[in-house]
Amino acid sequence: MSAHFVNEYSAEKLSTMDVDEINKAIADDLFEDAYETQKIQNIKFEGKNLAEGLESLLFICPACKKIGTLSTKHDFIRCTCGFYAIYTPYAYLKNSAKIENIDTITKWNDWQKDYLAELLSSASLTTIFNDEHIELKKIDKHHRILEKHKGNIKAEKDRIIIAEQIFLFENIIDMALYGRNTIVFSLKNSYYEIKAPAEFCGWKYFLLFDIFKNNK
Ligand SMILES: [Zn+2]
Repeated sequence: MSAHFVNEYSAEKLSTMDVDEINKAIADDLFEDAYETQKIQNIKFEGKNLAEGLESLLFICPACKKIGTLSTKHDFIRCTCGFYAIYTPYAYLKNSAKIENIDTITKWNDWQKDYLAELLSSASLTTIFNDEHIELKKIDKHHRILEKHKGNIKAEKDRIIIAEQIFLFENIIDMALYGRNTIVFSLKNSYYEIKAPAEFCGWKYFLLFDIFKNNK
């Protein structure tokens, strides 16, 4: 049950899917709401390290509202501010600040999406979040690599800047996530893939792009 959205899609499988299919597969994995079933069945999930990997999905701390300060170990997701939540074997989150409405992964994700949309409406914002050690590849339709760059990724309101290259959201046609640490996106005539370390949260870039597209 730890981060059940983390499905791995092979390069071969991906090459047979279009971006809509990829996004649908991811959305199905991510939003299949196990909690409805869980309320009825109250299944106990056995195993250790239930929370590990959740930082690939949950990226805003509900206590201090900072982005990129969460990390996981064993059954805990923690923030540098001292806030933590325990992922119970019954798939609920118990948090140290007793904040209501983040007692499941789905609810926490819904909250952070709303909060991100709110942040975007504040006028003074420049860099919203960033990550290091990114590899950007420009690829062709057959997944052949045309260019390769290493560097950082930074999101602003209307763009992502990757290894010094600017990509305006309005020019990005599609974006999809696969696995924990890979984003693929396309412009009119070009395709890109971003790979990042395992703890990377590509989901936040995807949400930002999604909010931008839906607000247009
Ligand atoms: Zn915090």
